[in-house]
Amino acid sequence: MSYVYHCNCDLIEKRDESGLELICPSCDEKMIELDEVFERQLEDQLEDLLNECFPPISIGPYSYDPGRVLKEIDPIAFRQELLTYIDGQCKDGLLLEIDDHYYEVKP
Ligand SMILES: [Zn+2]
Repeated sequence: MSYVYHCNCDLIEKRDESGLELICPSCDEKMIELDEVFERQLEDQLEDLLNECFPPISIGPYSYDPGRVLKEIDPIAFRQELLTYIDGQCKDGLLLEIDDHYYEVKP
């Protein structure tokens, strides 16, 4: 397990230890330790987002959350949406991808 540190000038440092006080060598600011976000968590975030954006799916008296429906009925489409979601998060600077791991960037 490695820990990732990040600063405002987008420098990334990987260390084996957590909780270090690192100062960025190029901007002189304190580097922030980023939390790894696992794919399972990103799936949950996407599910919540779909539930917020679309109305529940009703069949007679039964009602289902759209996020759960997409995930269970069409896992390939859900996966595609997940990749799009992750891509958007990365572009918005909220998520950082490093060696196939994702890290949450706190504002
Ligand atoms: Zn820096």
